Formats: sequence, C-alpha cells, structure tokens
Amino acid sequence: MTERDDRPRILIVDDTKENIDLLMEVFREEFRVSAATKPERALKLAHAETPPDIILLDILMPEMDGYELCALLKQDEATRSIPVVFVTAVSEVMDSTRGFAAGAVDYITKPFHPPMVKARVKVHLDLKHKYELLESYAFVDALTEVGNRRRFDQMLESELNRAQRSGRPLSLIYLDVDHFKQFNDTYGHGAGDDCLRRLASTLSKRLCRSGDFIARYGGEEFMVLLPYTDEEQVWHLAEELNRAVDELAIPHSASRVADWVTLSMGVVTSVPDAHASPREIVEAADRALYAAKHAGRHRIERGSLS
Ligand code: GH3
Ligand code: MG
Ligand code: MG
Repeated sequence: MTERDDRPRILIVDDTKENIDLLMEVFREEFRVSAATKPERALKLAHAETPPDIILLDILMPEMDGYELCALLKQDEATRSIPVVFVTAVSEVMDSTRGFAAGAVDYITKPFHPPMVKARVKVHLDLKHKYELLESYAFVDALTEVGNRRRFDQMLESELNRAQRSGRPLSLIYLDVDHFKQFNDTYGHGAGDDCLRRLASTLSKRLCRSGDFIARYGGEEFMVLLPYTDEEQVWHLAEELNRAVDELAIPHSASRVADWVTLSMGVVTSVPDAHASPREIVEAADRALYAAKHAGRHRIERGSLS
C-alpha cells in the first residue's frame, strides 16, 4: 500500500528542459512536481482530475507565449483559481504589467535563488488556501452550519441542469417550523437558536445519499434537495424527517399543534420534461408548504408544477 501524498502539486511549464530540471531540483522534496514543455500539455495537466495547486510559467515559449497561456487558464472556470507565477530571465524584458493583466500573481527571475523561489511559492499557496477557506464560509449558514441560501440557489440550479440532462427526477422539500414565533416568545431567542441548530443536525443526519443537500433557506425554514429522487421516495423521506423531529421532542408548550416542536413541509418533484425553472420549483414547494400550514400544520403536502 502506498502512503497518501499530501504535498502540494506544482506544475512547471518551460520549453527548455534544463530550466525544468533546475526548478525540479528546487521543489522535488516538498512538492509533487509535474512539468510540460508544450502549452497543450500544460493545459491538459491543469485540467487533470487532481490539478496543480500552483503553476510556474515561462514567458518566452515558441508556440504560445506565457501571457497567452496564462490568459487561457484565467478565462476557464476550471483553472481560474490556480495561481500562476511567471518565470523570466533577467536578460529578457519582462513586461510585468502585461503579466499581471494576464492574471499572474507574481514573477520570479532567472538565475534562481532557490530559497527565495520556494518562499514565494509558499506564500501564494498559503494565500490560495486561505482564500478557499473564506470562500467556503460564504456558503455556510453561521448558526446551523448547514448550507446557506446562496449555496442552495447554486445547488438547485446545477442539480436541475443535471436532472434535465440525465432524464432523472429531482425532488425538493421545503420545511418550516410550526409556531416558532411563540417558541421564541416562550423560551427566549437563545433557546430558539439552539432549537434551529438541533433541527438542522437531526435533519442532516437523516440524509444518507451523497447528493442529498440541506440548507437553511430563511429564519426557521430549511430546504432539502434530493437528486435522482422520485415522488414516492421524497414522500417517504419527508415522513421520515417529520418523525425524526417528533422523536427529538423539543418541548413547545405554546404550540397549538403538539406539545413539542413540529414541522410543516411542502414537497415537489420535477421530472425532466416539465422544464421547470429553479424559481418555479421553489414556488411550487412554497405553495405546498402554505397548504400544509393551512390544513393545520405538522403535515406534508405535495405541490405540482403548474
Ligand atoms: P407558522 O407556524 O405559520 O410557521 O408560524 P411561525 O411563528 O413559525 O411563523 P412566523 O413567520 O410568523 O415567525 C417565524 C419566527 O421565526 C419569527 C422569528 O422571530 C423566528 N426566527 C427567525 N429566524 C430566527 C433565528 O435565527 N433565531 C431565532 N431564535 N428565531 C428566529
Ligand atoms: Mg417561516
Ligand atoms: Mg414557521
């Protein structure tokens, strides 16, 4: 069995083999190094399943210069976030303005001073890591730690596209806590927050398929998105979620529905030939949720895409 290799990946692009060897020497202990002497090969490696964490890019190459290659990498969603550092000889006239305009984060000059080259590459990797962390926070709900509404909107759009391409159904459950205003009034806002956290955690645990996704959509409202899930399966899961929350038995003496915290739900399933938009699906689930409230709460209603 091979050990997992956690070292960062670096891609060196240079048309001169000797330059590649020099840089390889600098990085090979602490990095997983790959190299390309041609732009097509560099693009292919940048699109690999495990892409490089950073690219060192020579500016003067015969087929396509570094600026062009960098611009191509930056135009493409899949490779845009990989930092590019230009490598240039002092004797070459480096147009740094053009380099930064093409999307490079830095440039280093030949002949190399290895500790300096390494230190700068590490700075950029560290920045990239922090940026990714920040970006991930932007999609998480701070109170419950499930996805936030922004993440939900994004997921719904991409899952709907995928469902329409694959010809498989996509289901959605819109959940809302019953009489939550009274819960806050009775037990305090802090207890209300705790309740939302427990609900999110309980609901999350019941989602077992890898594509299943839950988000906090609003104050005391959650959305559960279920790819490859038909009418019967979503109904079954909604009942299970309902039961799981009942079993939590969080006391709610002011509720007119039960002595504990309960949910109402609207479920909707989109079949691919319905061609529903994300908005139409959410609106259908919202109407179903409203019907569940109207019919007395603590129940599930099915919505239809009109
Ligand atoms: P219904 O059964 O019709 O859904 O009644 P409701 O009281 O749950 O609905 P309403 O929309 O009138 O009130 C929602 C309440 O949820 C009001 C608000 O104070 C509370 N709420 C929203 N966000 C939060 C939050 O982050 N924390 C806490 N503690 N309460 C919240
Ligand atoms: Mg509500
Ligand atoms: Mg409510």
